[in-house]
Amino acid sequence: MARRKHIATGCRTCSGRGYLISPENGQYARAEICDCVSECSECGGSGTVFLENERGYRYLERCGLCGITRLKVRRYNNAKIPSKFVDVLRSDDIDPREPDQSQYAAMSYVKSFVDKYPKEKGFLLMGGPGVGKTRLAVGAIAELTLQKAVECVFTDFFFLLADLRKAYSEGIPENEIIGPLITAEILVIDEMGKGKSSEWEQNILDQLISKRYNSSKKTLVTTNYVARESLPRRSAARTEILEDRVGERIASRLYEMCIPLFIKGSDYRKGDISS
Ligand SMILES: [Zn+2]
Ligand SMILES: [Zn+2]
Repeated sequence: MARRKHIATGCRTCSGRGYLISPENGQYARAEICDCVSECSECGGSGTVFLENERGYRYLERCGLCGITRLKVRRYNNAKIPSKFVDVLRSDDIDPREPDQSQYAAMSYVKSFVDKYPKEKGFLLMGGPGVGKTRLAVGAIAELTLQKAVECVFTDFFFLLADLRKAYSEGIPENEIIGPLITAEILVIDEMGKGKSSEWEQNILDQLISKRYNSSKKTLVTTNYVARESLPRRSAARTEILEDRVGERIASRLYEMCIPLFIKGSDYRKGDISS
């Protein structure tokens, strides 16, 4: 059976993408299958078709016409992207408030991470608030889910700690919280270091990071803190160190598995990281 790669090329509603991003609504960003795909001529909208092998056995397979579009939409919806980032669909989709060289360098690494996936290392985006770190990380997973159907999960560090504490107080094993984060192909941990973590929490986070490291999974991290190795030589005294927030083990592991990208902002403007 000939497989047509593109569907709905002529659809004006979705410009041939096969999906639409829903307007901001609810907790997470959502995509929907466009009508031009849901009324698929090949599978009647079920997303699967029966095929027959040479011995006459019939088996169920993903529809060659719409199946991949359905998978991409499912991946996007399962990524738990906060709905305020619903407009971010590309990794270079940020609107730099104070564009500078470090911002463009970060953007170009993130773009190549997406384009060459899974060849490039994950990244650790450091820098003050408002420099576009989260938008860059969200742009990467929006693109990877919608273009390449990669399984991605976004998690907020502060909420993750809260979930762990809640699970502990309710007697729920912490694995129920971190299990899906360990297995996701790509994990975004946003705002790492926000909220002081206890030793117990750091141990669980260390397990999460180590297990991902050992199975060569990509982890994308944003933080307002700076890893000691990336500290500008003449840093301002108020600069806070990532190690002080999450412990040495986690920070050094992140350094092994991620490319450090330091985005300058007004807080760090006086630092000189190029030397
Ligand atoms: Zn359409
Ligand atoms: Zn179909």
